[in-house]
Amino acid sequence: MGNLSPHFDSTEAACHCGCGFDTPKCRLIVALEELRGDIHRPLKVNCLCRCAKHNKAIGGHVNSFHLTAAAADVRAPGLSLLALFNRAICVKAFFEGGIGVYPPWKDSKGKWRGNFLHLEIRDNPKHKRFAVYKGDSIPFSEALDILKEIERLKSSTTVLIGG
Ligand SMILES: [Zn+2]
Ligand SMILES: [Zn+2]
Repeated sequence: MGNLSPHFDSTEAACHCGCGFDTPKCRLIVALEELRGDIHRPLKVNCLCRCAKHNKAIGGHVNSFHLTAAAADVRAPGLSLLALFNRAICVKAFFEGGIGVYPPWKDSKGKWRGNFLHLEIRDNPKHKRFAVYKGDSIPFSEALDILKEIERLKSSTTVLIGG
């Protein structure tokens, strides 16, 4: 039991710099609960609230929705990114808000990074629905194709995907 909702706690939503910014937009938590209820397993929140200073330090977008606690980077251990994406687009708030796709990738030190979805909500749902991949806005159908290709590559090798 979290202090924000049945499954989410402010400690996992808090800005990683320790500034104390830890209060997500209410609708974001409601949407995350909806997704969690649908997949019947825990969602791991990598990042939610971000103060301007921390956002700059990690190279976040200047207008990042994390700054207003309206976006969460999540993964669901045991569930592929493709499966999570398929469920996330069924959550109205994310379908009308936006979904960023961050497939797993290896950095120069050989450490696995990425492997999460950026889920955001917006106050004006008339905005264009979109997915974002490598900085480009793409249709949801294209994001699905990319994730399917990643799944295909994953199943054809024995590479373990870390988080
Ligand atoms: Zn901070
Ligand atoms: Zn994000």
